[in-house]
Amino acid sequence: MDKQIIILFGQPGAGKGTQAELLVDKLGFHHFESSKVLEAFYKKEDPEKVVVADGENFKVGDEIIRWKTGLLNSPKFVVALFSQKIKDLADEGESIVFSGSPRTAYEAEKEIPLFIGLYGLENIKLVVLEISAEATIFRNSHRKICDLMRHTILFTPETENLTKCPLDGSDLVARKGLDDVETIKKRIQVFHDETLPVLEIAERFGLRAHKINAEQTVADVHKDVLAAIK
Ligand SMILES: [Zn+2]
Repeated sequence: MDKQIIILFGQPGAGKGTQAELLVDKLGFHHFESSKVLEAFYKKEDPEKVVVADGENFKVGDEIIRWKTGLLNSPKFVVALFSQKIKDLADEGESIVFSGSPRTAYEAEKEIPLFIGLYGLENIKLVVLEISAEATIFRNSHRKICDLMRHTILFTPETENLTKCPLDGSDLVARKGLDDVETIKKRIQVFHDETLPVLEIAERFGLRAHKINAEQTVADVHKDVLAAIK
């Protein structure tokens, strides 16, 4: 089978991370997690190094400070870094699942043509996990996170009484800080303002959005994802 790129798209709490991990487990995809890619880069890279991205210079140390203080990293810098990582993965023959990227219009404009160039349009699938605003707020405010690997566990009928992480067995704890209702509403607003435009851009590049009801059980959503990416 040809190598694929799957873009899982949806609001916070739609289950993108969970569905991505299932594709890793069942089909051997590489899970491209933006925050982990940034973290790994900052750990190994010299802070004095200057990265040239789209004609601008970015000092790695400045980006590390932005990252540590919770500011967004410069989009041009992020896209340059991600593009290199995506090329490396393509060279290694990996199929990739994205669970939170492209996140902005700028990222989509740059990365989608790169995906198409590396994998071919027919091998890129855009899967939209649809969930109501009410469900997003409920799931996020009830979500748990595992102690060991920070896997997030969405609130669903199957996970309601879970106390151990199904992936590594460590204790599940409530996620602090990120998940109060006002913060969640803000994240949903940011999604609408900054991330939703990615869909139109993807369609303009010829991708078709496969819409899935993400309020079903995790297993049923996974079945629909598999059908969508065939
Ligand atoms: Zn875990």
